[in-house]
Amino acid sequence: MLANIRIVLVQTYHPGNIGASARAMKTMGLTDLVLVNPRDFPHPEASRLAAGAEDIVDAARVVGTLAEAVSDCVQVIGASARLRSMPLPHFDEPDEMARDVVAQAADDPVALVFGRERFGLTNDEIRCCSHQVSIPANPDYGILNLSQAVQVLAHEVFTAWRRRPESDFRLARPDRDRRPSREQLGHFHEHLARVMRESGFITQPHARTEAQLQALFARAEPSRKELSLLRGLLASLEQHLPAPPDEGNGEE
Ligand code: SAH
Repeated sequence: MLANIRIVLVQTYHPGNIGASARAMKTMGLTDLVLVNPRDFPHPEASRLAAGAEDIVDAARVVGTLAEAVSDCVQVIGASARLRSMPLPHFDEPDEMARDVVAQAADDPVALVFGRERFGLTNDEIRCCSHQVSIPANPDYGILNLSQAVQVLAHEVFTAWRRRPESDFRLARPDRDRRPSREQLGHFHEHLARVMRESGFITQPHARTEAQLQALFARAEPSRKELSLLRGLLASLEQHLPAPPDEGNGEE
């Protein structure tokens, strides 16, 4: 279960923060570290600050984008000190986030995502997330050091795991109750955008409308079964649309 909980650090500037985050993870039983485009890694400073958690640093995977880091995850929690304009579901209390994450992680991978030291996560990166969480802190100075933010949330997750309810020891959850991965949800949104264009509902790619619909479905938290129902509905609507003028015949 804890093995299904991934920590993702986006474009970390100081290699020491990567090592200190690995140490924070290991103290709380987490092992899966993914680094999105780190500035300078591998680096002796990362190994030095990892202390006894060098194995986590050595096993860290490096990828180019946040989407790649979380495509197989069913829940992606963006940690942010500030509320953004994206109306994603937001956990005001980290312990509520941790209970949900631990329950999801019984069957599928989930991720906690941390931003850059200087400017956190971009709006595009927040869009890769299913939820946001903030660590309540001093309103006059509420921004934690990156690895300390990792420590606080990893501790919440470990506590929720220690206290997980009996029901979490059950057999694997049936498919109809499982949430879709970010990749499956991404395919749904591509399909929805295509039908919106082909039906003339929008005449050109419309990022704002698409973002609003993404936020709507993020709040609805559809299961895999519900998502496949929606895919079926879109496919059926598509069959009744006139073929688009210059698209979709596969010719160069
Ligand atoms: N200067 C950046 C914050 C960088 S701190 C900004 O203004 O957004 C580095 C990362 O630590 C953040 O991106 C976030 O993931 C995490 N973090 C720091 N303080 C946090 C808090 N109070 N709640 C949740 N995450 C926090």
